Amino acid sequence: MLERTGVPTPEQLALCLPGPERARRGAVAVFECFEKIPCDPCYEACSQGAVLPFTDINDLPQVDHDRCNGCGNCVQHCPGLAIFVVDCTWAPGKALLKLPYELLPLPEAGEALSCYDREGKRVGEGTTVRVVRGRPFLGTPVVWVELELDRCGQVRHVRPREGGAGDGAAG
Ligand code: SF4
Ligand code: SF4
Repeated sequence: MLERTGVPTPEQLALCLPGPERARRGAVAVFECFEKIPCDPCYEACSQGAVLPFTDINDLPQVDHDRCNGCGNCVQHCPGLAIFVVDCTWAPGKALLKLPYELLPLPEAGEALSCYDREGKRVGEGTTVRVVRGRPFLGTPVVWVELELDRCGQVRHVRPREGGAGDGAAG
């Protein structure tokens, strides 16, 4: 399925998600990296040792979720846009999602967003909390999105809700 559609299977996702006990402790990275390619910037980006050393640069990244503090530095440095940070403890009934965002213009803090799942289906709404801009040519911008708690495992892309080019095209 991944090879044909770009959408991982539930079995693939189960291998990369933190356990429920870790998720209840706050922000944690989810590495949705399923292709064996020569790539390891996530390892270099993590100062916490949460990304374990690669024995071969083609290996899939192995993550120790207990070492991860959810900082999101790896999100900014992943060329595959494959890493997300999820915080299910953000606020009552709300989660915070940090996701890579390469489109322009970047959202502004407070801006309303439409949320999309891995298949491009519109699945809800969110609000921009913050935008961490990458250094030119060295990092991907990371958008912090507040959204409904029960959507945080589903949403993997956002677009400005009103008036944004292409808004609604996928849902
Ligand atoms: S979110 Fe921060 S601590 Fe967690 S894996 Fe990424 S860089 Fe390491
Ligand atoms: S940097 Fe991204 S694409 Fe490269 S191995 Fe790490 S998670 Fe996968």
